[in-house]
Amino acid sequence: MSRFWSAVTHGLTPYVPGEQPKIDNLVKLNTNEHPYGPSPRVIEAIHEATSDALRLYPDPNADRLKTALAARHGVQPNQVFVGNGSDEVLAHAFQGLLKHELPLWMPDISYSFYPVYCGLYGVQSRAVPLTADLSIDARDYLPQDGVRAGAIIFPNPNAPTGRLLPLADVERIVAGNPDAVVVVDEAYVDFGGDSAISLVGTYPNLLVVHTFSKSRSLAGLRVGFAIGHRDLVEGLERVKNSFNSYPLDRLAIAGAVASVEDEAWFQDSCRKVVATREELVAQMTALGFEVLPSAANFIFARHPQRDGAELAAALRQRAIIVRHFKAPRIDQFLRITVGTDEQCAILVGALAEILKN
Ligand code: PMP
Repeated sequence: MSRFWSAVTHGLTPYVPGEQPKIDNLVKLNTNEHPYGPSPRVIEAIHEATSDALRLYPDPNADRLKTALAARHGVQPNQVFVGNGSDEVLAHAFQGLLKHELPLWMPDISYSFYPVYCGLYGVQSRAVPLTADLSIDARDYLPQDGVRAGAIIFPNPNAPTGRLLPLADVERIVAGNPDAVVVVDEAYVDFGGDSAISLVGTYPNLLVVHTFSKSRSLAGLRVGFAIGHRDLVEGLERVKNSFNSYPLDRLAIAGAVASVEDEAWFQDSCRKVVATREELVAQMTALGFEVLPSAANFIFARHPQRDGAELAAALRQRAIIVRHFKAPRIDQFLRITVGTDEQCAILVGALAEILKN
């Protein structure tokens, strides 16, 4: 607290990221990072970009990256917006596209940064409850009795549940709300979903947000992007150019372009994570856990006889870190990132031991 803070600062409830502890031999399964390093071509490109040219500002528009992403996703470069991680892209969307007189609708259980942005930018919101099995029901997002959303945002797959909403249901929401922007946060879609990017040519109210932090193993580089109608992208550019002209530095642009160009690495590493996930789900189920169907690089699981917080604490004593949320309806669940096969084996071994006691 300080009398020098503005009223807005006093009122903020900041997001708390998953911890990054400095513990030896830690099995870190708490922040959904990729278990393997990025494409070697990314490292090479970053080495090459590490030169005297760093005295110069980067391209404020990151045109090379937009062109590469546009080609990869079959859209025009002016339909692509890039930012310093998808968190920054989302922040600009909250301020520039999601703040209207009518409230923003979002799931009651989803990415916990959304309410934080609502607080920061003064966005009125309405939490739409997930169904009893913790899924999104598209019908809950359609106008009802003349009441409609001012805008809509949800992750797909949802976080922290990992559940996927089929593309046809995403389309129902977008088509059913022609006067509201719908942001689909596809941070985890590469691990098992069909992207709604295929719909942006049809729906001018759809913005799809992606990140390089998960499927491209570049959480440390901070690159995210959005694809949508060029008018939506222009809105985001207006906000960005009123905030920070250079969100992506030279190394980030070079690394991200190289990542997009290495499609083989991308496909292969996503496949590996999915294979490990399926094995992990089978082993956790055998231990008596109830595991929600996951289309992401994490699973969401609870044990009918064990307390979620106690399980997380017992794992922590064994230097294994998973994420536990003290929120209603999900406080018995653990969100566990899919690690390497070895890390998952250590996790399953530890859980088997804990459950014996
Ligand atoms: N969206 C969702 C649903 C996430 O879980 C995360 C990761 N915390 C992000 C966006 C942000 O990822 P980044 O800023 O690293 O791109």
